[in-house]
Amino acid sequence: MSVDILVVAEQRDGALSRSTVEAIVAGQNLGSDLGKSVGLLLLGQNLSDLADEAAAKGVQEVLLADHEKLADYTPDGYSGALQQVIEAENPDYVLFSHTYMVRDYAPKLAAALGKPLVSDCIHYRMEGRAPIFVRQVFQGKIDADFALQGDAPYLVSFQTGAFNADNLKAEGTGAIRATNIDMDRVEVRTKVLEIFEGVKQEVDLSKAERIVSVGRGIKKPENMELVKELAEALEADIAASRPVCDDGWLPLDRQIGSSGQTVAPKLYFAVGISGAIQHIVGMKNSGTIVAVNKDPHAPIFDIADYGIVGDLFEVIPAVVTAVKARK
Ligand SMILES: Cc1cc2nc3c(=O)[nH]c(=O)nc-3n(C[C@H](O)[C@H](O)[C@H](O)COP(=O)(O)OP(=O)(O)OC[C@H]3O[C@@H](n4cnc5c(N)ncnc54)[C@H](O)[C@@H]3O)c2cc1C
Repeated sequence: MSVDILVVAEQRDGALSRSTVEAIVAGQNLGSDLGKSVGLLLLGQNLSDLADEAAAKGVQEVLLADHEKLADYTPDGYSGALQQVIEAENPDYVLFSHTYMVRDYAPKLAAALGKPLVSDCIHYRMEGRAPIFVRQVFQGKIDADFALQGDAPYLVSFQTGAFNADNLKAEGTGAIRATNIDMDRVEVRTKVLEIFEGVKQEVDLSKAERIVSVGRGIKKPENMELVKELAEALEADIAASRPVCDDGWLPLDRQIGSSGQTVAPKLYFAVGISGAIQHIVGMKNSGTIVAVNKDPHAPIFDIADYGIVGDLFEVIPAVVTAVKARK
């Protein structure tokens, strides 16, 4: 058996990451559009428990690259092992989630294979029998289409949030197969000293029903009281864009976006947030998005269901009064 679409998994504390599940959903969609099989590749050491978890994720096969040199992530180890697996399996597509790790090793892997890499895609569409991959350029101002040329395999990474993990079709049980990798051929030139946990997640906003999220438009920490009042009136959790957390006006685990949490509440109320792509990927699957911004061209309005163009220092008190009046 061989797989046509190979999804490369990432694990954290012995479990598949959510972004891996999103990449499997991308693989399942592409597989169904092209009539192709989907496999999942695990890299690491002592993978048997994880392999059982992976086999239940609706893939036809789970491939294992199990070796002590893969116990910790290193760009040499991962790209060396992946190169061998891809050359042996010769899939049509290799799909990744566009994580920090993938950013690190995927270009090296693509160069070693001599194959194209389309990175950080936000979706794809079919044109006839060929997928066209879409990625954003110029800070998200332009969506660019990429058609792939030359011989497969093609390497494609998808942005976090590009596919919804809840759409996973977890039917059947995939077969588990060990790959034949020769790690003696792979020279690992770096050693992991410490794994730095960027944001220690104490608050789980992924289950919040309503979120009021605040951006740099709030201007100074003293003004945070205003959005806290709105959150209270709406019985919502409070969150923020990255600059607000970077400045310490809210804890880091309240940050929404590519380097923060991914949320999908029924209501996402964005206050003074411009809508940079790194923020949008973390909240675009929200049910109803309301945005307040004084700039009518702010990108947040492209995805908002309701947009209020105005000064938040006038708009928010009026909204708080209106919400309280309805209670
Ligand atoms: C690798 C990387 C990862 C990143 N990860 C994240 C992430 O996880 N999450 C994230 O949010 N960002 C992230 N960023 C940063 C991101 O690129 C943006 O810089 C950030 O989202 C901007 O935050 P903002 O919208 O609050 O601020 P700004 O872009 O400065 O926008 C402020 C908005 O407030 C509006 N405004 C100002 N005054 C008022 C007023 N009085 N009334 C109404 N509106 C007003 C302005 O018109 C403007 O649109 C990341 C960047 C990089 C490079």
